[in-house]
Amino acid sequence: MTLNIYHKKRNFKSTPEPYGDKPVKHQNLYVIHKHDASHLHYDFRLQVNGVLKSWAVPKGPSLDPQVKRLAVQVEDHPVEYGAFEGTIPQGHYGAGTVMIWDAGTWIPQDQNIEQAYQSGNLTFLIKGKKLHGLWKLIRIKSTPKNWLLFKLEDTYAKPEDEYSITEKELRSASSDKSMDEIAATAHKVTKPAAKPKRKAAAAKKAGPKAKKPNAAKKTKKSKK
Ligand code: MN
Repeated sequence: MTLNIYHKKRNFKSTPEPYGDKPVKHQNLYVIHKHDASHLHYDFRLQVNGVLKSWAVPKGPSLDPQVKRLAVQVEDHPVEYGAFEGTIPQGHYGAGTVMIWDAGTWIPQDQNIEQAYQSGNLTFLIKGKKLHGLWKLIRIKSTPKNWLLFKLEDTYAKPEDEYSITEKELRSASSDKSMDEIAATAHKVTKPAAKPKRKAAAAKKAGPKAKKPNAAKKTKKSKK
């Protein structure tokens, strides 16, 4: 389970984001969130070993194989996060509107996904609503958090100056809403009450330290 950092950064009493109780192993989920945080970016996520490996891509994907987009790896997210669309409240980590910009499945082209991920060289087929075909993620060796995301040549490739997919595709792949529409309706989204079971388990784990003052401090950061 690699969700410790994800959990530490968030206050689940007041963010609508999912806690993500357990790793889910059902399919190779692929999601791109468009995230209007302190800086607009696209969060590229691939399900690996029951969590969503995640990269913040400032400029988003390009269909042009010549255009390699910086993808900064961020903390693993729970698979349930793939279904999240809404607004993270002010004062919270990542405050801002989150859209499911694209979603579908990914099909690894590497024999051993774990090995390919560890070596920082992933080749995969995307079957999304907006992105299709072959893509690549390559780690920049000198800066372990920085990767490059880019399209490989196939029938879905297009020159960026002819077609910029981030400029053309402005609506949610899930709800068909625009960013403004998601932001406007966000306050109506209510999260189901936390299960008492989980609360008790969390309190037990955290011990006496899990008092309110600490929880309040955690909410001050708001970057990605
Ligand atoms: Mn983000």
